[in-house]
Amino acid sequence: MGRRHSLQSDRKLLLGLIETCREVIARHADHLCELDRAIGDGDHGTNMRRGFDAVFLERESLCGLPLALALERIGMTLVMNIGGASGPLYGTLLIEMGRRFGARESRPTFDTILSEAIDAVARRGRSQEGDKTLLDVLYPVQTEVARKSALIRIADTATESAALTAGMKAMRGRASFLGDRSIGHVDPGASSCALLASAICHHLMEYQPA
Ligand code: ADP
Ligand code: MG
Repeated sequence: MGRRHSLQSDRKLLLGLIETCREVIARHADHLCELDRAIGDGDHGTNMRRGFDAVFLERESLCGLPLALALERIGMTLVMNIGGASGPLYGTLLIEMGRRFGARESRPTFDTILSEAIDAVARRGRSQEGDKTLLDVLYPVQTEVARKSALIRIADTATESAALTAGMKAMRGRASFLGDRSIGHVDPGASSCALLASAICHHLMEYQPA
């Protein structure tokens, strides 16, 4: 009885998170395109929206899977539907998290899972913190998660970290072609990452298990 109850709660939570992510990306898609027009090719909002709409369409079957498999499937759907440079990076994050959640024998903590998945994104993008990418949100978020900070603190860190990318010079992706002219603009990938992280934290804060 108790176990069934917890499985249903997970399902409700995952469904809620998928809806929340899709909604926040749809609401900010035009703004993300605008950010990408300034230092890229203007498609980041469209790419992200396509990816999260595709995940939303699969939500019923995703929610029937164990969490590890669901995360992997979401990652693959994001790779196939976001496209661009950001698709494989967001995809890697989710796929690697899923694989680690599934590694039952080592029983890693959430903090370790997130940290290793972010490192995998960095390897995939051959990028590091300070390069003006979504990693400039992921690493600060990871630091707050490792400190066991309150969800509101994690959400605020994500938002503040995205804003800080305006002061950075892009070292990776299309924006790097602009060199110093990329300074003064917020990175679109950092912005989408902060929107997602913040929306997820707020959803978790308000979440009432069934
Ligand atoms: P594209 O650049 O192919 O048009 P998007 O516009 O969807 O792809 O995504 C651009 C975002 O992807 C950037 O703002 C940046 O955050 C991220 N990005 C691009 N290249 C890299 C990389 N090598 N490492 C990490 N992030 C990257
Ligand atoms: Mg682009």
